[in-house]
Amino acid sequence: MACGIAILGSTGSIGRTTLRVVSWLGEEYRVVALSGGRNWEELAKQAQQVKPRLVATAYPEVVEKLTHALEDTDIKVAVGGEGLDEVASHPQADIVVSAIVGSAGLLPTMTAIKCGKRIALANKETLVMAGGLVMEEAKKSGAEIIPVDSEHSAIAQCLAGHRREEVERIVLTASGGPFLGYSRAQLEKVTPEEALKHPKWNMGDKITVDSATLMNKGLEVIEACWLFGLPQDRIDVVVHPQSLVHSLVEFADGSLLAQLAVPDMALPVQYALTYPQRTTSPIEPLNLLEVSSLQFFPPDEVAFPALGLARRAVETGGTAPVVLNGANEVAVEAFLAGKISFNAISQAVEDTLGILDAGSAENIDEVLAADFEAREVARGAVGVLEREKV
Ligand code: NAD
Ligand code: MG
Repeated sequence: MACGIAILGSTGSIGRTTLRVVSWLGEEYRVVALSGGRNWEELAKQAQQVKPRLVATAYPEVVEKLTHALEDTDIKVAVGGEGLDEVASHPQADIVVSAIVGSAGLLPTMTAIKCGKRIALANKETLVMAGGLVMEEAKKSGAEIIPVDSEHSAIAQCLAGHRREEVERIVLTASGGPFLGYSRAQLEKVTPEEALKHPKWNMGDKITVDSATLMNKGLEVIEACWLFGLPQDRIDVVVHPQSLVHSLVEFADGSLLAQLAVPDMALPVQYALTYPQRTTSPIEPLNLLEVSSLQFFPPDEVAFPALGLARRAVETGGTAPVVLNGANEVAVEAFLAGKISFNAISQAVEDTLGILDAGSAENIDEVLAADFEAREVARGAVGVLEREKV
């Protein structure tokens, strides 16, 4: 029987890539459930094409339009948090692709984990907010978590067949984003349009801004701590502008293993679906003769303080990473709306972390309460920075 796939966030960048991959993988894979946000037209179009059993939108205000668009089909339409949970727990789904952006991905991903599904995990915010709880639930239910984030997919590929005790450290590569080499003074003037022009990857707006501030790499350090069971000080970050080496593992004997490929998210998505097998794909292999150089240098943590903030938050533990993440989401939104400057994003995160003491994050309710409080405080911090901008 075909392997059933449910996609949380099918209308986004990773969601659409997943549909592309499933379509070339052929009959062995079948999409059984889809979810999206406000973009009901795209969601309806996808549903007409792949004919899942179930489609859910997170937003009640678009459910009528979605239902109307699918009334000639026998596809069930669901809505809200319950609808997302139905997608995440669909009985015919063997793999749940977690590709909602931000904290909204946490609860449905947790549902899929509790059901023991394989999780193809793109939504790194889930691990940043609740890594301990997620890993514990996965152990209980037997859910496999296969990372889709390109760096973590690379590391998982390098680790295959090795014991964790053999690992000395992990090296995450970072493209450096569109503002590589900029000083803090230059960064003060950059616009949302400039921040959204990523040199190597075509991604959703939030992660593209996170890549520009290096918060994305900070979130990825936290993600790697949970996935691979290492403390943050054994996870290095190097800037590698070519984005061909997707990350590396250093082993006890001094060997470095790396994974290289053209930068295309279809590859880590496909690996997460077909794991532990590999199968053919239309992606062009990297032509080494066309690679003129591979460069690596340290990140500028003065111009890009977000990476250090993330390291400190995971070191503090408890709800500190939840606060980091919630404040960042609020600040990125304010930057994209033109309310605050680029540098004010990390400032708002730092201010929020300074105001809120880290509490315990031992259950989902504590995590959600900390997220709520962080957003309120971050909105205040953003308000102050907004007045300073004017
Ligand atoms: P995107 O903005 O393109 O898509 C987000 C998806 O989530 C859409 O389907 C949207 O409808 C849905 N969504 C948004 N808000 C929602 C809500 N409140 N409730 C339910 N659904 C909601 O984002 P993306 O670039 O595809 O990224 C998705 C996740 O994958 C992020 O966590 C990101 O960090 C991670 N990721 C993305 C890439 C990439 O190349 N795009 C690479 C690595 C990791
Ligand atoms: Mg990444």
